Amino acid sequence: MAGSASLYYRAFHGVPQSLTAPDGTPVNAVRGFLDALAFLVAEHRPARLVACWDDDWRPAFRVAALPSYKAHRVGADGGEDSPAALGPQVPVLVDVLAALGVARVGCPGFEADDVIAALAARAVARGDGAPVVVVTGDRDLFQLVDDAARVRVLYVGRGVRRAELVDEAWLAEHHGVRGGAGYADLAVLRGDPSDGLPGVAGIGEKTAAALLQRHGDLAGVRAAAADPASAVPAGQRRRLLEAAAYLDAAPAVVRTVAEVPVPAVADELPRAAADPQRLEELVRRWGLASSVERVLASLAGHRGR
Ligand code: MN
Ligand code: MN
Repeated sequence: MAGSASLYYRAFHGVPQSLTAPDGTPVNAVRGFLDALAFLVAEHRPARLVACWDDDWRPAFRVAALPSYKAHRVGADGGEDSPAALGPQVPVLVDVLAALGVARVGCPGFEADDVIAALAARAVARGDGAPVVVVTGDRDLFQLVDDAARVRVLYVGRGVRRAELVDEAWLAEHHGVRGGAGYADLAVLRGDPSDGLPGVAGIGEKTAAALLQRHGDLAGVRAAAADPASAVPAGQRRRLLEAAAYLDAAPAVVRTVAEVPVPAVADELPRAAADPQRLEELVRRWGLASSVERVLASLAGHRGR
């Protein structure tokens, strides 16, 4: 399953806007996304794949918990402040994925992150032992990493060709935390300015990881901060106690919600386009020939079931 917005944003910023349709409309994000899809299918040969959509990029339940959540990214129209040339490309991508027959799913009121969490839980519950790989450029999804359940993240923050496979050993090495749950606790303490998550003032990534190592998890850190007999240094203790309201609210913002009413999806990767005629129209209209050819070649060669 793939967090699509992180992939098309990445494509938009990584592929020149001089790539346009015959009428001059930029299609760089569409082409970059399709090229990434072709590469991932050829390289990883998944039997199933779902493009997960942000039907809501800033869900009300997260804003209610923490009004600063993504507040700096709200545009003049109340929607997400995204580049003008990107918006019109998203429906094109939707059409192309439908014509290809690549599954795409979102859920009103939830982010792609939550949809991914729900689908990962569903795949694990299926119990056939098939590994789950979450493809994303969003570090928030590291919280889903679970070796025992065979859930890993293919982090494409530096592009699909420089992807890193994130498992529990990777999280321990790069962030000093135990598993996906440890990463979520770290994200709460450290915060994330790009999401409007302040974190605990004065507690950066290293201090947060050290606190979690010493006290187990977020609840353990907070209990230690409240216990005068604990080893938490006075400065950190004061900062943690002062951030009590934030620490009460932030976990509900940071943690993905797996209990999302995601419809059942036919997620088997097709071997050929579901609607070749429609696909041909889209290719001509938007000038997507080479990218779509690459996707079709990767689909024809994939393992399937
Ligand atoms: Mn996210
Ligand atoms: Mn994020």
